[in-house]
Amino acid sequence: MSIKLESNGPSMNDYSCATQCTWCDGCGDYGIWTAMKRALVELGLAPHQVCLCFDVGCHGNGSDKLAGYRFHGLHGRVIPFASAAKLANHKLPVIAFGGDGASFSEGIGHFVHGIRSNYPITFILHNNANYGLTLGQASSLTWQDQPMNSSPNGIPEHTLNSMDLVFALEPTFVARGFSGNIPQLTQIFKTAIQHQKHGFAFVDVLQACPTYNHFATHQYLLDRCYDANAEGHDAHCEPSKARALALDTSKRIATGILFQREDVPSFYDRLAPRKDKKTALVEEVGKVDVGEFMRELI
Ligand code: SF4
Ligand code: MG
Repeated sequence: MSIKLESNGPSMNDYSCATQCTWCDGCGDYGIWTAMKRALVELGLAPHQVCLCFDVGCHGNGSDKLAGYRFHGLHGRVIPFASAAKLANHKLPVIAFGGDGASFSEGIGHFVHGIRSNYPITFILHNNANYGLTLGQASSLTWQDQPMNSSPNGIPEHTLNSMDLVFALEPTFVARGFSGNIPQLTQIFKTAIQHQKHGFAFVDVLQACPTYNHFATHQYLLDRCYDANAEGHDAHCEPSKARALALDTSKRIATGILFQREDVPSFYDRLAPRKDKKTALVEEVGKVDVGEFMRELI
């Protein structure tokens, strides 16, 4: 059944593609994919009104299963090209999708600077705690002692505390969801997309990967995740309070909007040459004859 907001509004069907899904049965990508479509529809955004950017990974194979302006780039580089697209046209909602493998290894520098720069994009982390596309190697977020396909005795490094890193970067928006809770995830995505006008919105989605992640399974997450906002947590709190909530996963895992502030200008709003400009950069691009310049180089 498709969701219709109004007679001429976008529907779930508008985001459908003919390409068949290749994700494994029970993969959390299905829940994230569905929640994102719902969020876009409920925000009244049609496919031609959004830019969806995909990193390499199982989630990245969703790039041809969701309508919209889409870009599927190099491993670990989704934040640079998503941010560039946003700076070129700041009127366009830009959503970047990345996995835990790429985001906290190949692309960790981009991740760090994406948050500290407060680029005005929404970043959805598909966090299945392993490299799923390349057959189940340990990522920086895999539990240390967990046997994986390329490390049967566990990994020698300690597991990276991703939320601690995120809060050290002074974020303006941090949320956590679970791929098995589509209604909550839809609300989180909507808020994260709306936050773009204030800067970088980070959403950590704990995602089931039944093929390779046999430790933080769907059932494990289902048993531990709870809605912190429903229990009274106000995201507009002191960063230290949100950080403590995000880090305390010993018994239960807090989900929902964990932290939000609107008083820090985004990267775009700090660019002095863009001050008071009503147009987007893409609207200012003109035809330039570079022939003379090229002849000088020869
Ligand atoms: Fe999903 Fe894991 Fe299969 Fe990849 S390997 S499609 S993340 S279940
Ligand atoms: Mg992964």
